[in-house]
Amino acid sequence: MPNVLSKTKKLPDVAGLAQELVRFCTVSGENERTVLEYLADPLEDAGFTCSLDTYDEARPQRASLIARLRPEDEKPSLYLGGHIDTVPFGNAVWRHDPLGGVIEDGRLYGRGACDMKGGVAALVRAALDFALESGAGGRKRDLVLHIYGGEEGGCYGSRHAARRAELFGKPGAGIVAEPSSLMPLSGHKGALWLTLRTAGRAAHASTPEKGDNALLTMLRVAARLADFRPDASHSLLGDATAALTSLHAGLNSNSIPDKAELTLDMRTVPGAEHADLVRRIAETVGSLAHIETVYDAPAVWTDPDLPWCARVRELTCAITGDAPEVRRANFFTDAASVRALFPDLPLCILGPGDPGLAHATNEFCPVEQIRAALRIYTALITDWYAGRG
Ligand SMILES: [Zn+2]
Repeated sequence: MPNVLSKTKKLPDVAGLAQELVRFCTVSGENERTVLEYLADPLEDAGFTCSLDTYDEARPQRASLIARLRPEDEKPSLYLGGHIDTVPFGNAVWRHDPLGGVIEDGRLYGRGACDMKGGVAALVRAALDFALESGAGGRKRDLVLHIYGGEEGGCYGSRHAARRAELFGKPGAGIVAEPSSLMPLSGHKGALWLTLRTAGRAAHASTPEKGDNALLTMLRVAARLADFRPDASHSLLGDATAALTSLHAGLNSNSIPDKAELTLDMRTVPGAEHADLVRRIAETVGSLAHIETVYDAPAVWTDPDLPWCARVRELTCAITGDAPEVRRANFFTDAASVRALFPDLPLCILGPGDPGLAHATNEFCPVEQIRAALRIYTALITDWYAGRG
């Protein structure tokens, strides 16, 4: 065998790799390209073909990595996805440096430890191990690793990649490694955020008849929307919801405001078409307001009775000892972009770390969960390719 093994030793073990990833500051998309190049180097040495997808031309550090083991393989591959960016540290003082990668009492502390550098470390290590194994065994199967930037704030990296299907080949199933405490999740609600704007004419508040009060117009809009319901429901995800979440108008007490802004947050379920919802909102408010779609990510759901989904629950729970129940996520993920890329792809959200610690001060991930994630991903990869040529 060539010296692949010695080269891939450039990367530490899975816990050490998670520490290294935490030490790269990727707050709000900083240094994404730098850390992706750090990961691409050993992946290429192990036989992967790596492409960097720049998704913001004005900021060349903002990028995603797509690594393919055997792009020429025509059989369905397994897709492994996760994001490398993090949210900022917040204002509170941390117990440990959020970029220190400190392990204490079996916990890796730092921004992104849980969301989701622990998961990315396990995906990368599992992919490398598979490449080494298939190199030794002569197997010629593809495996797709997609580490994207720009998740926090709008899934920019994965949404950009969703327009470049040619980079991904033909996946037959996918894992998105967002923190789930290592419980396989079948999907989550979608999100549709609208901003409504009204326009008027400014005047002195002592002569309101000379103006056109945009706030009053907006209050009529808000009254019409107060009882708006998306009218869609799902047996596990629950009801689709709509909520008015902010209202801004006016600059001071003695002027008639000439513009007002209202935000509407909708959480949707499969079957609630977002274009239909926008059309219904437009009909409801008529010509009173202009509507802008600010964020649009559809619901994600994979039938948990599909044989592969049942197999994921079985293999995962054999390692974690949990009951193999069907579960959902309470947050939304880049799985929506992956679903846009491959509309029928069975997807499972499964990663180390408690999702309740994502974005928190003193964020941490139990090291044992990162190690268990590696065992789970390895089992899922082995299972996928066993008997598939
Ligand atoms: Zn995340």
